[in-house]
Amino acid sequence: MEKLNGGCYCGAVRYQIASRPAWSGHCHCRSCQMALGGAFVTWAKVAAKDFAVTKGEIKTFQKTLGITRGFCGDCGTTLTYTAETEVEGQDWSADAWFTASTLDDPSIAEPKTHVFVSHQQPWIKLADDLPTFPEF
Ligand SMILES: [Zn+2]
Ligand SMILES: [Zn+2]
Repeated sequence: MEKLNGGCYCGAVRYQIASRPAWSGHCHCRSCQMALGGAFVTWAKVAAKDFAVTKGEIKTFQKTLGITRGFCGDCGTTLTYTAETEVEGQDWSADAWFTASTLDDPSIAEPKTHVFVSHQQPWIKLADDLPTFPEF
């Protein structure tokens, strides 16, 4: 499998995925809005075993117990999201979630959905015809 790379804005942290993203979608949840400083964020995921940091170190932050957001300690770019426990019947720890836009080639992680549109800002107008979900 071809190796695919990504990293933070300043280049201090680099990562590699060993498979193409199995899922990609826009998350409009309030937590992502606050953590990313944007109206929404585009997440992608691969199997946890297929994600590896190849340069630097991802710093982590927890506001909600069990939910860890990873970022570059130098430039602040959000890189990863991990949930240690089972959430709504899904074992999130089996996957590595990362910000699709930090891939060197984000086009390989074309989003297929919008989630948490119940938190969507009213000034964001969706016109891409992707399916939307009030939560996940
Ligand atoms: Zn950085
Ligand atoms: Zn979110």
